[in-house]
Amino acid sequence: MTTSASVPTDPDGATTGGTVTDRLVEANQRYAAAFTDPGMDARPVLRVAVVACMDARLDLHAALGLELGDCHTIRNAGGVVTDDVIRSLTISQRKLGTRSVVLIHHTGCGLESLTEDFRTELELEVGQRPAWAVESFSDVDQDVRQSMQRVRTSPFLQHTDDVRGFVFDVRTGLLREVDPAS
Ligand SMILES: [Zn+2]
Repeated sequence: MTTSASVPTDPDGATTGGTVTDRLVEANQRYAAAFTDPGMDARPVLRVAVVACMDARLDLHAALGLELGDCHTIRNAGGVVTDDVIRSLTISQRKLGTRSVVLIHHTGCGLESLTEDFRTELELEVGQRPAWAVESFSDVDQDVRQSMQRVRTSPFLQHTDDVRGFVFDVRTGLLREVDPAS
């Protein structure tokens, strides 16, 4: 039986066994074979934390010219500033020395096609309403502004003077900055 986790072909088109996780573990073995300990501290070199959507088309390190060790990356569906993102940012700033926050949403985000009705659908299906908000949105710029505001007004964060928000265009690869005042 084929499941979504199976990997039916390798890059040559030949049939292979194993799940997608098996493939990742094999890739890790090759990675580790060529890996040398960079001897890095856990504190990000650029003292920046990037909060972004989990979207598979957004390669944060490539898109922002980031190297290993440069930054913290905090990702979830939508790049939403939830309590858990504030938790990570608080640890990032207070224990690991970051000072800047970059927020990245993107064009064509899956959250634009959802509404809070998703919670009701789940409740009808499983008999329990999730405690979390879907955090869906229809105006990506407004959602970036709201995210910036949540970071800036958090009482737990020490550094809120350098918080900037952007929309990444998945078709051009370009970032567009969102004016927090618009
Ligand atoms: Zn997204």
